[in-house]
Amino acid sequence: MEAQQHDAFANVLAQLTELQAVLKVEENAFTLLQEPKRVVRVAIPVKMDNGAVKVFIGYRSQFNDALGPFKGGIRFHPDVNESEVKALSAWMTWKTALLGLPLGGGKGGIIVDTKTLSAGELERLSRGYIRALYKNFGPEIDVPAPDVYTTPQIMAWMLDEYEVIVGRHQPGTITGKPLTVGGSAGRGPATGRGGALIMKLAAEKMNLPVGSSVAIQGFGNVGAEFALAAIAFGFKIVAVSDSHDAIYNPAGFDVPALMKYKHDTGGVKNFPGSTVCADVLAVEADVLIPAALENSITAQNFGIIKAKLIVEMANGPITPEADKLLADKVIVPDILANAAGVLVSYLEQVQNASNYYWPEEEVVAKMNLLMTDAFNTAWSKMEELKSSFRLAGQAVAVQRVVEAMKARGWC
Ligand code: NAD
Repeated sequence: MEAQQHDAFANVLAQLTELQAVLKVEENAFTLLQEPKRVVRVAIPVKMDNGAVKVFIGYRSQFNDALGPFKGGIRFHPDVNESEVKALSAWMTWKTALLGLPLGGGKGGIIVDTKTLSAGELERLSRGYIRALYKNFGPEIDVPAPDVYTTPQIMAWMLDEYEVIVGRHQPGTITGKPLTVGGSAGRGPATGRGGALIMKLAAEKMNLPVGSSVAIQGFGNVGAEFALAAIAFGFKIVAVSDSHDAIYNPAGFDVPALMKYKHDTGGVKNFPGSTVCADVLAVEADVLIPAALENSITAQNFGIIKAKLIVEMANGPITPEADKLLADKVIVPDILANAAGVLVSYLEQVQNASNYYWPEEEVVAKMNLLMTDAFNTAWSKMEELKSSFRLAGQAVAVQRVVEAMKARGWC
């Protein structure tokens, strides 16, 4: 196993121990919850443009499929490691279970810095990952999707490689595809839109007034789509940041104009009407949206946060230590807040299976229904357990996985 700076799977085990104190799952089931069902490590040879062969290391962790086929993205990043894919596959299992989907959880990755590859090398690497692992994939086995530094184009290459190998069309093998090869309308903006809906539902429960202010860390795909949907619900976006700059406007930003400005200039700096903001986390806002990186809120910086509500649009933006220190806030956990991406991936699979494609309004209506249902179930669980929202969401999910494992006679 590669050297690891951070043992992400240790976090999963710590969370399970905390959950077990509340749920008191039978010992056999608890044992099964602590291990992925299968972790595959592959060496992928790629002929580089200069003629040399380079070997890349890839993984797929299939955590639990008691509720249905494994489901989860493929990450291309230099820091990918076995512990990380195992952890992300466990969290995918809780995410699909909390949504009530007939899916389990998986995750994959390749150790690679995509910025060092040509388009041809990237395509050969993507196809090589499928050649190494195709026996583990399929609509009824395990369904990958995009994640960090993987795109709809990469999904299209992967699907094509898979279909060539198996000799038939099976678009439901991979989701997050371009529309032309069986993607779903509404998949691109889904994560941001679904998160904004969840923020609205949480704000209503907390009696935050209409027009509440929101600060967003990370104005990328998720952050920008979130902002667009949030202003439609009547929220005011008063601060946003990207990897270089943070800007502030207490009157609220014109979000479509800011999106165009970022597209045209490459950043948010000097957007007309804004002032420079030292740290988006410290802004006077009712709601804080971490939508950039893992571990951006830590035991060192948690004290500057003024917001009453935090909605985790990024995966794992709050360290476990900071999470405990922020107990006076309502924190919507990532497995609920950013779940609309995998939810619309599921809807993509359903459309692929029936070979009939819905208009965007139909996708959004179905997404809103299932997201609202998951929110209400987790909120009721929080009231019942008198726990954090995070623990309540995980409790709903883990209970569903345990029930399915018991029904199957696994434990
Ligand atoms: P993205 O690359 O489009 O955007 C990330 C943004 O964060 C960029 O604008 C970047 O400039 C900014 N950023 C980077 N470092 C920053 C810093 N230190 N401070 C402030 N901003 C910083 O990525 P994305 O697809 O929007 O994903 C954002 C997060 O949401 C990730 O954690 C991802 O795992 C999670 N997520 C994404 C999806 C999805 O469907 N795209 C689904 C679930 C979770």
